[in-house]
Amino acid sequence: MTFTRLTRDIEIGANSYALDLAGHRLVLDCGLHPQHDGRAGTPLLDRLAPGSVDAAVLTHAHHDHIGCLPLLQRHQPQAPVFMTEATRLLGDVMLHNSVNVMMRRQEELAAEVPLFTHGEATIATKRWRPVPLETRFDITGERLGPHGESPISLEFFDAGHILGSVGVRICAEGRMIFYTGDVQFDDQTISKAAAFPAEPIDVLIMETTRGDRATEPGFTRAGEEQRLATAMREVFDAGGAVLIPTFALGKTQEMLAMFHEFHRDGLLRSDCPIYISGLGAKLTEIHDRLAGQTRRQHPGLRLADEVPHYVLAGQSAEFEPLKSRRIYALSSGMMIEHTLSNTFARRLMENPKSAIFFVGYCDPQTPGGILRQSAPSELVQLDAAVPPQPRNCRLERFDFSGHASRENLRAYANKVRPKKILLVHGDAEASGWFREALSADLPECEVLIPPAGEAIEL
Ligand SMILES: [Zn+2]
Ligand SMILES: [Zn+2]
Repeated sequence: MTFTRLTRDIEIGANSYALDLAGHRLVLDCGLHPQHDGRAGTPLLDRLAPGSVDAAVLTHAHHDHIGCLPLLQRHQPQAPVFMTEATRLLGDVMLHNSVNVMMRRQEELAAEVPLFTHGEATIATKRWRPVPLETRFDITGERLGPHGESPISLEFFDAGHILGSVGVRICAEGRMIFYTGDVQFDDQTISKAAAFPAEPIDVLIMETTRGDRATEPGFTRAGEEQRLATAMREVFDAGGAVLIPTFALGKTQEMLAMFHEFHRDGLLRSDCPIYISGLGAKLTEIHDRLAGQTRRQHPGLRLADEVPHYVLAGQSAEFEPLKSRRIYALSSGMMIEHTLSNTFARRLMENPKSAIFFVGYCDPQTPGGILRQSAPSELVQLDAAVPPQPRNCRLERFDFSGHASRENLRAYANKVRPKKILLVHGDAEASGWFREALSADLPECEVLIPPAGEAIEL
């Protein structure tokens, strides 16, 4: 039984892992690096001989997990890909959007993109197999009853990260392996906390995104919501606008639900219009369609109807006039160049009355990450083609992370007491902290940061 990390570096990039067990090969996720174009942004897929993969699992539809799935499927057309129904619907939109983005990048950079076409994305999605939560199935997708036997069985558990996200339990060769995917053990505004199994497991493959920082003493999500509502009121009273860079999938819908609560509780004036991006709106529509069928908070809340907002989409979106007392909850979350959040940040950052509020993860090397660390009046360059500008606007960070705190991840590892832990999906500092903490907590357990492309015996 072996595990191979196909992600190129110790970072949150193109997440993908291969498991060889019981004579079969299973691939977990197949993402695209958010910042690298062409091959550099892909996992090490050349380590997988064509036709050698028996099945794949997609834990959720974020780009760092799904972005290269059509490439995997191109060389492994025989492999079914298992995911939840929500991930199937969201993933379809995400992949086609990804092709559009890659085509635009190709025009700008003459780079080695796109990695795949709309046609290939469509073919790939036809081989996706939706599977319900907490139902055992075998490597062909066949359901296994409570006593059903198979050399390999799989089972999904709600990961509480975004709509459709799961962790997966794999049983083979008399051992139990659990891959967390991206997980949140606390409730968010829409997503309910993860419902992961509590029984002991043999091998835990665990994300480590937030290993680099401790939770602030006294932190509560409710307190953070109050702080955001107050900050927004202050900006609007001064006549400014608020930009909230958000991931289109997950964070946009979480923010809309939060604005709904703010309006309901009288924390925010209802005459401050909300703007979101086109992709965010498409994904919001899927959240609404599944509102009554998925495990979530506010089960009946239809965001498109009950949280009025405008959609900035198409070529003209970036020329939309920026007005005061407006909420711009725009993607991308990391303010990647040529996205609406980047364009609007450049138009708003010199105005001391306005504000940029960060509400989620930002890679420190991205424009969002660089801006987030800036001092007042510091010159910041958000686009290589545009000269640096002074950052005069207010800037704050709020913690509405869709990832589990390091304390909660540590507690989970202690609860399931694995014999081996493989630390993934985190930078060197984050995974290093977990290696130290978990080695101390569980002296019998081997805690590893798997090297890229090397098969590790489990
Ligand atoms: Zn994610
Ligand atoms: Zn991720």
